[in-house]
Amino acid sequence: MTQRTAAEAGKAPTTGASAEHVPVEHVEVLIVGAGISGIGAAWYLRRDCPDTGFVILDTEDSFGGTWWTHRFPGIRSDSDLHTFGYSFKPWIGPPIATAQEILKYMGEVIEENDIASHIRYRHKVLKADWSYADSLWHVEAQRTDTGETVRFAANFLYMCQGYYRHRQGYTPEWEGMADFKGPIVHTEEWPEDLDYAGKKVVVIGSGATAATVVPAMAQTAAHVTMLQRSPTFFRTGRNAIEIAEELRKLHVDEEWVHEITRRKILYEQDAFTRMCFEKPEVVKRELIGNVRSLLGPDYDVDKHFTPSYRPWRQRIAFVPDADLFKGIAEGKASVVTDEIVRFTGNGILLKSGVELEADVIVTATGFNMCMMGDIAFTIDGRKLDFSQTVNFRGMMFTGVPNLAWVFGYFRASWTLRAELVAAFVCRLLNHLKATGAKSVEPALRASERDMELLPWIDEENFNPNYLLRAMDMLPKRGTTREWQHTQDHWREAEEFPAIDLEDEVFVYCWGARSNVAAE
Ligand SMILES: Cc1cc2nc3c(=O)[nH]c(=O)nc-3n(C[C@H](O)[C@H](O)[C@H](O)COP(=O)(O)OP(=O)(O)OC[C@H]3O[C@@H](n4cnc5c(N)ncnc54)[C@H](O)[C@@H]3O)c2cc1C
Repeated sequence: MTQRTAAEAGKAPTTGASAEHVPVEHVEVLIVGAGISGIGAAWYLRRDCPDTGFVILDTEDSFGGTWWTHRFPGIRSDSDLHTFGYSFKPWIGPPIATAQEILKYMGEVIEENDIASHIRYRHKVLKADWSYADSLWHVEAQRTDTGETVRFAANFLYMCQGYYRHRQGYTPEWEGMADFKGPIVHTEEWPEDLDYAGKKVVVIGSGATAATVVPAMAQTAAHVTMLQRSPTFFRTGRNAIEIAEELRKLHVDEEWVHEITRRKILYEQDAFTRMCFEKPEVVKRELIGNVRSLLGPDYDVDKHFTPSYRPWRQRIAFVPDADLFKGIAEGKASVVTDEIVRFTGNGILLKSGVELEADVIVTATGFNMCMMGDIAFTIDGRKLDFSQTVNFRGMMFTGVPNLAWVFGYFRASWTLRAELVAAFVCRLLNHLKATGAKSVEPALRASERDMELLPWIDEENFNPNYLLRAMDMLPKRGTTREWQHTQDHWREAEEFPAIDLEDEVFVYCWGARSNVAAE
């Protein structure tokens, strides 16, 4: 890594008269985000591109991303850690893990692989401008502790910034919110000192987060009501994986336990996903039958736990040891399916006319999705609108050089895809080095120029609200698998390593050039 001023780096500074004298640090690869994707990216760079320098920038004070910023009671994964954890580091604990356990695991990965020295915390990336003249990303970040501006010139930008705005959840505007006398808390903005012991709590929402926070709060609250507009599918099971237990009994090495357990889980998930498409009614009956058996014959499962959509059209939350349902069966928690008319001083008035009393209201109402960490992207100074690009394999964008993006799976663990992308990025970086090319960007082939361009996700396939709300900022999807984020880990695991880097789809550039496309 070398230090140069902005002028030496061949780029006029973007702001401020004195900005020219702010040193610019040159890095080969700049990773944005020290969450599970960014740390995984670092591991792959160290293994596959050992001579490539890289820096990770993160706004937060520590690593972990999602698992660092979320602090609500009971926070845990809903994927098993054999597949949410990395392929290269065995997971030894129970499959569903708390945020603390995930952070500990990630901390070990950082320590064992000497990644810490590459991470700069409290660096919020604000701007990134690609310059065709010097084939560099000119990146501006702000130190969140000192307010200081920090500049980088990077050959390659590796976007591991996740998909939602941290520390600012999505809360719909309901009438009368200001009238409510108690605290209204979003699960993404949990106050450390929130006291709910012995209080009446209403949790709005019914996704994985609500399913986690409801049983956790029910342990000390007077009562917790999960208020939902419509029901969600849930799966339940023991927080253990039989095959891992068996292998451990036989003293099989943890590396083997991890690998075999991963394969078994992936095999079963594949079968389950296929069933959801091929026999949705059978899966629906099974999922709902399971809930019925947990809540007993008198419970109105049709009303509260029978979604109208096909299974897997939205993420199916896993409830370990059925704790949510045990809480309901024991009367510590309950579910209300209704619509909110308005908040009142004492709670929430529902369309049915019922007023739900509450001392504390928790909104588990989802994310504010954000594209690329809210960074202002430009190409040669011109605004880059990702919604006008076409997304190659859910990881690169037409007209955007030397940039890769991690967006994991919805139906399988996020990390599975983050690793596929990481292995691909390393291959691409090595190819750039081997050929001496300065930049690469994907482009529609001549035969694809008339391809129909569609919204990034197929609503028929998967349609969570946070994605639907953000459709206008997401890139375009094409009609072939290469131009789609397919959500199909099982095929992508075979396809990604086979991507031909010499294919016409990759446009390489060997020297400085003006941005012809943008002119
Ligand atoms: C409560 C909760 C539970 C979840 N459980 C699961 C699960 O069990 N299984 C699963 O597969 N998925 C789960 N997810 C989805 C989850 O977000 C991803 O699986 C995964 O953690 C994302 O990792 P990431 O590293 O890509 O992004 P993140 O975890 O979002 O981390 C991104 C990092 O980038 C940093 N960053 C962002 N923008 C900037 C910027 N401009 N400048 C500098 N730094 C920036 C952030 O500070 C953050 O640290 C869950 C999500 C939530 C909220």
